[in-house]
Amino acid sequence: MAQNYDVAVIGLGAFGASILYQLARRSVRVVGIDLYVPPHDRGASHGETRITRQAIGEGEIYSPLAIRSQSIWRELEEETDERLFLDCGFAAIDSSGGVSNLHGRTGFVDRTIEAAVKFDIAHEVLNSEEARYRYPGLLVPYDSKIYFESGGGLVFPERCIKAQLSQARRHGAVVHTGEEVTEISSQQGSALITTRLHEYRADQVIVAAGGWAKSLLAGPATSQLRLLRQTLHWFEATHPEIFDSAQFPTFIWTHGKGIEDSFYGFPNVQGLTRGVKVATEQYGDTIDHPEALQREVSVSEASMMHAGHVLGRLAGVTDKPLKSVACFYSQTPDADFIIGPASLDSRVTLVSACSGHGFKHSAGVGEMIAEHLCGKAEIPAQFSPARQDGVR
Ligand SMILES: Cc1cc2nc3c(=O)[nH]c(=O)nc-3n(C[C@H](O)[C@H](O)[C@H](O)COP(=O)(O)OP(=O)(O)OC[C@H]3O[C@@H](n4cnc5c(N)ncnc54)[C@H](O)[C@@H]3O)c2cc1C
Repeated sequence: MAQNYDVAVIGLGAFGASILYQLARRSVRVVGIDLYVPPHDRGASHGETRITRQAIGEGEIYSPLAIRSQSIWRELEEETDERLFLDCGFAAIDSSGGVSNLHGRTGFVDRTIEAAVKFDIAHEVLNSEEARYRYPGLLVPYDSKIYFESGGGLVFPERCIKAQLSQARRHGAVVHTGEEVTEISSQQGSALITTRLHEYRADQVIVAAGGWAKSLLAGPATSQLRLLRQTLHWFEATHPEIFDSAQFPTFIWTHGKGIEDSFYGFPNVQGLTRGVKVATEQYGDTIDHPEALQREVSVSEASMMHAGHVLGRLAGVTDKPLKSVACFYSQTPDADFIIGPASLDSRVTLVSACSGHGFKHSAGVGEMIAEHLCGKAEIPAQFSPARQDGVR
């Protein structure tokens, strides 16, 4: 016999966990179901740290979500006594002469500065000398432009997911892990969710299945999602103290006009991370399904990352990887999120908010979706799945 809920959330990564938490605290009868036991390392929400920033060069729609997310994490820190967000600062560096192309947009640093002005976000624009003096780890060339946001920094993704799931449970959410949803169908005026173990009925279904969304919800809403393999590297530094989070920010550095001519990095967080973590955006290695991911990272991949991005830009960061991991994210053609009805059946909402820049918005997106389901907020049309058919 099927269990009955107001809402079923499928997938409890960054987005599913935040949606579950926000619905539960609004006293909605909600069940969350995940294939694994989140937080886990099989999806897109692991790897110790994620960059957060308030001024979002990817588009005006995003800054309010990022700002709200930071507030929610601070509230959750109070409730759980767990450190979730470290405001070690964020630097966006442009040494491309303003022609960079990141997350589907050109001129990332200039757009970031525009967003900071528009949303009244505290920031500084530094020249190369000022940036090098303040952060000796950053070997910024002399003609660069640097945006610095003291309120930016990093979040701990696994901790954020864990905190939201535990608070969701505290507010009455039911959580089923290790359970794969195999089908979602409509039956007698509600949705029927079938897993390998149970059946559930719900008035509304949220599909936040990350890279699995395409196989769970085949159709126009997901057909243009591409799964891109990414690698992350932690390199040894000769002077680790200059990369300590007490004095080094997170950064995104655009240094050319190609879509892969950028990299980003993190400070060392004492007691949690070891080595300087860096990564770039990789668009060339697509996979059909998360389970097809090549998880081993070769020595030559680490060497290419170091030679192509790190060498000559980060002081004393050697080409010795302490650790490298592979994961994936889903990419939309315009790099914007997809949040909206998955088909004509308005009972099923697809939340595919990645394209490599989703985590910092996840807590705010969860709140927006919960408010929407409670009839108090609209989801912006910019996120509509229909835009992909040119129906925007
Ligand atoms: C390498 C990398 C670096 C990134 N860096 C940043 C950054 O610095 N800043 C930033 O803001 N964002 C960043 N992002 C993006 C951000 O991490 C993602 O947007 C976000 O984590 C995606 O979360 P998700 O909930 O959509 O997916 P996931 O975390 O993958 O969650 C999907 C969940 O669905 C479950 N699931 C799948 N299928 C089923 C099924 N059939 N039944 C039940 N459960 C199912 C899975 O088990 C999984 O738990 C990065 C992403 C990557 C990969």
